[in-house]
Amino acid sequence: MHSSFWSPLVGTLKPYVPGEQPRMAGLVKLNTNENPYPPSPRVLAAIHAASLSGLERYPDPESIELRRAIAAHHGLQWAEVFVGNGSDEVLAHAFLAFFQQGGAPLLMPDITYSFYAVYCDLYGIPVQKVPLREGLRLEVGDLVAKGTPTAGVVVANPNAPTGIGLPLADVQQLLRLHPDRVVLVDEAYVDFGAQSAVSLIEQYPNLLVVHTLSKSRSLAGLRVGVAMGQRHLIDALERVKNSFNSYPLDKLAQAGAQAAYEDQAYFDQTRQAVMHSREGLALQLEDLGFEVLPSQTNFLFVRHPAHDAGVLAAGLRERAVLVRHFRLPRIEQYLRITVGTPDQCLALIEALRPLLSV
Ligand SMILES: *Cc1c(COP(=O)(O)O)cnc(C)c1O
Repeated sequence: MHSSFWSPLVGTLKPYVPGEQPRMAGLVKLNTNENPYPPSPRVLAAIHAASLSGLERYPDPESIELRRAIAAHHGLQWAEVFVGNGSDEVLAHAFLAFFQQGGAPLLMPDITYSFYAVYCDLYGIPVQKVPLREGLRLEVGDLVAKGTPTAGVVVANPNAPTGIGLPLADVQQLLRLHPDRVVLVDEAYVDFGAQSAVSLIEQYPNLLVVHTLSKSRSLAGLRVGVAMGQRHLIDALERVKNSFNSYPLDKLAQAGAQAAYEDQAYFDQTRQAVMHSREGLALQLEDLGFEVLPSQTNFLFVRHPAHDAGVLAAGLRERAVLVRHFRLPRIEQYLRITVGTPDQCLALIEALRPLLSV
């Protein structure tokens, strides 16, 4: 084959596999944790306005206006905010910036966002996975490497795909356990009812908080991610970014993302709607016999004691409902179901009934 042309590393990579984005119409798509509601109309207006002039020029390489809007939203300085082309890119830069520490392992839970281990492969960072406890709960005191140096810690809070959030006191404990290393808290789902660690930034020089506009701000298609931390951390991310791509955010993305932060009312309305649907859907799934983990996200992680998760996922697919099933140790009997609109939740429940014969 042509792989003889590849750099040796490429053949060893185990790339992340995103949930499918089928082109089929009429699917109830509950497999990739997108927001079921469209972005704020103000976002669309801002993108349209930005498109009318200046596309022949490079965009602002520093995305200053957007960073100002994000900083204002969180009570930070703009120099404490970094933006990138989706939080996946922000995470990639952070792993390179902070976690290549002379072969020391990066600590993470055994069940978490699977992209973390992919970046570690890419950058040659060893991984030390810490098992979640009973009920797929994280005990933060377990995130320590006994006697050996560590490269740092990464946690998703709330965790993916479990949906379980950590209280702020646990994040603080983690920051104190690793004062000399960066603790990266990926808050992709925090706006659906969890506690953000952004308020701790002033106090902890080792805290980096990562957000995305893909979930709570309905902008997965725009590709905008955010990191927040003290200046010295943001400076490191800028150095990496400017060694990779000076213009990660195009002009339209910068304008649209800024408008998203400026429409607080729409943001609150849509995330409240999702949280409300989540509570209703959880009760309905429990009525059908599912065990539902407590979720502070826009998805539910569920298992049925009497039905195989893979069979259920395949059966739902035949009925045009997509959910996510991970064939991974410890969670192969779980389904991850994105909270949709009330109609989509109803379609899911109706599709499940014949599969469970109820
Ligand atoms: C969705 C998700 C991301 C990626 O978000 P993008 O900004 O779309 O790249 C990062 N982390 C977690 C835990 C996620 O679920």
